[in-house]
Amino acid sequence: MYKKAVSLILAFSLSVLCSVPAFAADRTECGCGHTPVIVISGVGSCPFYIDKGTQNEHICFPPQLNAGKIICSVFAGIFKAVVKRDFNVFADALADVALGVFEEFRCDENGNSKYNVSPETFPGSTENYDEYLTSDKPEFNIVHALVDEIGADHTYFYNYDWRLDPCANADNLDAFISGVLDETNHEKVSVVPCSMGGVQTLAYFAEYGGKKIEKAVFMSPADSGLMFVGNLFNGELQINKYDVFQYLKTLKTGNALADAFIGRACGALGTGMLFNGLFRFVNGFGERLNPTAIDKVLKNTFASMPGMWSFVRPEKYEGAKALLLGGATDEFIQKADRYQYEVRRNRDEILNRVMSEDGTAVVYCSHYDKGSLPVTSTGSSHGDCLIETTCTSGGAFCAKAGTTLPVGYVQKNYCSGHNHLSADRIIDASCCTLPDSTWFFKGISHVGGLYGSDQCRFIIWALGFDGQPTVFDNDDFPQFLQADHTMMKLTPVAASN
Ligand SMILES: [Zn+2]
Ligand SMILES: [Zn+2]
Repeated sequence: MYKKAVSLILAFSLSVLCSVPAFAADRTECGCGHTPVIVISGVGSCPFYIDKGTQNEHICFPPQLNAGKIICSVFAGIFKAVVKRDFNVFADALADVALGVFEEFRCDENGNSKYNVSPETFPGSTENYDEYLTSDKPEFNIVHALVDEIGADHTYFYNYDWRLDPCANADNLDAFISGVLDETNHEKVSVVPCSMGGVQTLAYFAEYGGKKIEKAVFMSPADSGLMFVGNLFNGELQINKYDVFQYLKTLKTGNALADAFIGRACGALGTGMLFNGLFRFVNGFGERLNPTAIDKVLKNTFASMPGMWSFVRPEKYEGAKALLLGGATDEFIQKADRYQYEVRRNRDEILNRVMSEDGTAVVYCSHYDKGSLPVTSTGSSHGDCLIETTCTSGGAFCAKAGTTLPVGYVQKNYCSGHNHLSADRIIDASCCTLPDSTWFFKGISHVGGLYGSDQCRFIIWALGFDGQPTVFDNDDFPQFLQADHTMMKLTPVAASN
């Protein structure tokens, strides 16, 4: 009797033990051979709404500009300033215009949305959203390429309130990832974080690690910050003529003849005398405007958003806080500090941890030769029309726009004897956090990823690669790639002459 009971228990235990893995396997394996991919949006790919789903629903971002009203307010300001002979009256009027445009989109003193604002979100796979595949936004071009490759039911798009604390947003991203895993019956997803998506992903890695993430292919990511934002938050508005013309030169029209002409004209104008007076006037104007612009506009618009503080780089962070957050609440400061000191400061460690402990593959895509926003002293940096290359690459050392590193320049880090210097002598990638897995695309603008382009082919290759892709794995995709003027075709970067 006793023996029978034991054998019954044994048999029962065995059958339970055997059925558990089978049950788990049935539940978690889709068997399609593709990992689902979530494209993580940057700033501004989708509108934000006030009172969504109510009668009052309307878009608050991008700001819906009423040109007539703005022009009237500006001219009224000029008129009052002339009558009162006081420039500050005009500066105040300009500030009021800017504040009016952004009022509904600002955050309150604690860094929460001041109004009932919600971003456009996309729950469920892209099967449910035909319309946005035709959008010309870079993120959607990448989505489109992925749908062709892995199917709409395995492609997802994640948008979020980028004004808010990225560390708090990490909880929402984790819930979204879990939803995708349940819906697709996969054990892991891959992510393609674009621009601000890089900040969200780094904050996510800091909080949740990489257990659920097979690969992260960062496109022009902002997780290392933006130099010009830190400068602006320190009140350092500065528009250099040379930088502006270097920048204009990189905004190609797609017509080779026109671009050659614009390139020559901008080169001559950048170094010539012609516009000196104009730029002196603009900067003088900027200087007089500065105190008002900072006090009234910055504090009550972009600097009211904890998410924007994630763009400020460490060397500019405390200075910006002293200037703009003097009267901020503890709650706000905690939100801003959290990304800066718990995530950004530990960025290298966080990336290395998800790679070594969780087996997450990490790829960085950085663009150069497009200029960076020429509004501060770092306007002469290589960039992608927006963010500086040194930031999107996680630390590359770059020549100043329009110049090369000196002949005979030796890369700063040895990196197992690899060559990480671009043939055009503009980029030293040995200084990047991941020198062997950071790619550089010359002549492609922010995020890039045009539908049907070689760059999309690169993204698909990196996502499908077995393990951690490196710049030595595919002859089609060496570390430095040059785009043609349409940004569709890529060839290895040629030596400079
Ligand atoms: Zn599948
Ligand atoms: Zn190396």
